[in-house]
Amino acid sequence: MPKLSCSLCTDTVDARTLASPQKLENRILDLIREDRPEWAAKRGICPNCLEQYRAKKFVSYLEAEYRKLSDIEHAVVSKITRRGRVSKVVHQDFEASMTLGQQVADRVARFGGSWPFIGIFGAILVGWMAINAWVLAERPFDPYPFILLNLVLSTLAALQAPVIMMSQNRQAQKDRLHAQQDYEVNLMAEIEIRDLHDKMDSLRFKQWHELWHIQKRQIELLEHLCAQTTDPSRRPPPPAPYVPPEI
Ligand SMILES: [Zn+2]
Repeated sequence: MPKLSCSLCTDTVDARTLASPQKLENRILDLIREDRPEWAAKRGICPNCLEQYRAKKFVSYLEAEYRKLSDIEHAVVSKITRRGRVSKVVHQDFEASMTLGQQVADRVARFGGSWPFIGIFGAILVGWMAINAWVLAERPFDPYPFILLNLVLSTLAALQAPVIMMSQNRQAQKDRLHAQQDYEVNLMAEIEIRDLHDKMDSLRFKQWHELWHIQKRQIELLEHLCAQTTDPSRRPPPPAPYVPPEI
């Protein structure tokens, strides 16, 4: 048997097992040229080198697919590979990271948009006007038409608007986090369901294979019984012992 050396690793192998560069896939040739630019692609490569470059081809294909994923999908994939949980209580983390000013703004916005605020504020307004119009009728600190009250009200409105907007922005941010979380959970569920489908298919295939083997065995046994009953003097050899099928 003639022996030749591999043009990549220079190991000597059977000439028949060398893979000729003309028969290699373009992607494998490209990978070899990336690693060994001086390689002339004139002589064949050994099965070991071929296997290595085939593996590299699949890894590069998988890496290319992985690069196509978005950041969220990357996060889900890494959580799946670590067998981690995707679902978490988003609003607790979010609220823990809030500053004191943000918490105060939220409380002010919550109180400003409630019936108690309207009641208390209405009572203060009526009280202010009553004190200035009747109680301190002689020397009111804010006589009719209550210019100081107007100033206080416009200041309050000017301050309340940004506080409410801050609170709304934060609510929108929280909603975005929730939406992202929902997407991650759905994606993970989809991947897991697909995985389960694959497992079910593989189990079903295995079962069919086993059933087929059992049926074959039954036919063998029946044939043996038939042969025995038709001619008891012949004593046919018993069928070979049952060997479970291998997948
Ligand atoms: Zn080689």
